[in-house]
Amino acid sequence: MKYQANESGYYGEFGGAFIPEMLYPNTEELRLNYLRIMEEPSFKKEFDQLLKDYVGRPTPLYYANRLSEKYNTKIYLKREDLCHTGAHKVNNTIGQILMAKKLGKNRIIAETGAGQHGVATATVCALMGIPCVVYMGEIDIQRQAPNVARMKMLGAEVRPALSGSRTLKDATNEAIRDWINNPVDTHYIIGSVVGPHPYPDMVAKFQSVISAEIKTQLLEKEGTENPDYVVACVGGGSNAAGAYYHYLEDPEVGIIAVEAAGRGIDSGESAATSALGKVGIIHGSKTLLMQTSDGQITEPYSISAGLDYPGVGPMHAHLYRSGRGEFISITDDEAMQAGLLVSKLEGIIPAIESSHAFAIFKNRKFKPEDIVVVNLSGRGDKDLQTYIDYFEL
Ligand SMILES: *Cc1c(COP(=O)(O)O)cnc(C)c1O
Repeated sequence: MKYQANESGYYGEFGGAFIPEMLYPNTEELRLNYLRIMEEPSFKKEFDQLLKDYVGRPTPLYYANRLSEKYNTKIYLKREDLCHTGAHKVNNTIGQILMAKKLGKNRIIAETGAGQHGVATATVCALMGIPCVVYMGEIDIQRQAPNVARMKMLGAEVRPALSGSRTLKDATNEAIRDWINNPVDTHYIIGSVVGPHPYPDMVAKFQSVISAEIKTQLLEKEGTENPDYVVACVGGGSNAAGAYYHYLEDPEVGIIAVEAAGRGIDSGESAATSALGKVGIIHGSKTLLMQTSDGQITEPYSISAGLDYPGVGPMHAHLYRSGRGEFISITDDEAMQAGLLVSKLEGIIPAIESSHAFAIFKNRKFKPEDIVVVNLSGRGDKDLQTYIDYFEL
């Protein structure tokens, strides 16, 4: 297994758990129990049942006829946009809320930037009747009013992070502080394949249902489980990790990761972590991250809130460094145009994050017989105002 986490949570040179000593008991309890719990039949049964009846899985694998015609290759869309709450994030929060219950935790905390992970967390806490505190930067609370309202309707308490730049990294600091103070009763739900071991591996495993379904569905449609390429956008990297998971060790399946170049890689306003990042430690994990020469984290920028993250999960840092993955960065403008094109050709309005993945087809050529699966990570409803402003609709 060259591309999965080893026992210490390393993907090649990346990963691990670089945490303050006071956090050690919390992550240690999780590390010692997560694999065993995920293997328990009662856990599996409840997880599968909720994915089916609550999330609406399996999500369709849809042959995008007009898009395929336009780019002269065979394009399939994995429809994570049809998940309850509108994106893949809920696969992970369902898994983690069940994990929390098995560990005897009766309180949930989370951090959120744009609010999507906060909503997915508040949703499963409502489902299970467990109190939920979501930390969110004060600036983000102002910028993301609809998601704040959603979290409140779902019964969560949204606590503003007032320090630093008052955005995601400050919310993360607050959540970690809370967890240190409440080690016994609280579980911290992290929203992507980031953070200290075992989070990247645990979240990747919860999201791996995506590629498990692709295999079955593609076998039915094409007589093979393996596409030629799997394409996904990468913020922290959870939808991508899920879409790649069962193909990681299969060299004939090409892995394409799409990052947000923002206003351009060299513009100073970008979130293309593999291109711009250097090895460092963020949120307890050794990975690639955007930083100044003295190691301070650089503020990332992307038009899409979900890709606006200065690091990338350790799995993806390893896929990049080892050459297993092909990394492409896409600007705001390219993503917006691709989102409009998919809307007009397929009747599907993608989340702007997912639009980045569609934008590769303009320059990256595929053979007519290639089977290319694009993970459509979420729907565009949440981004309507951004599309309206951009295209003056
Ligand atoms: C949050 C989000 C992403 C980015 O997160 P990953 O962990 O990289 O998947 C991508 N697409 C959508 C729709 C999102 O909501």
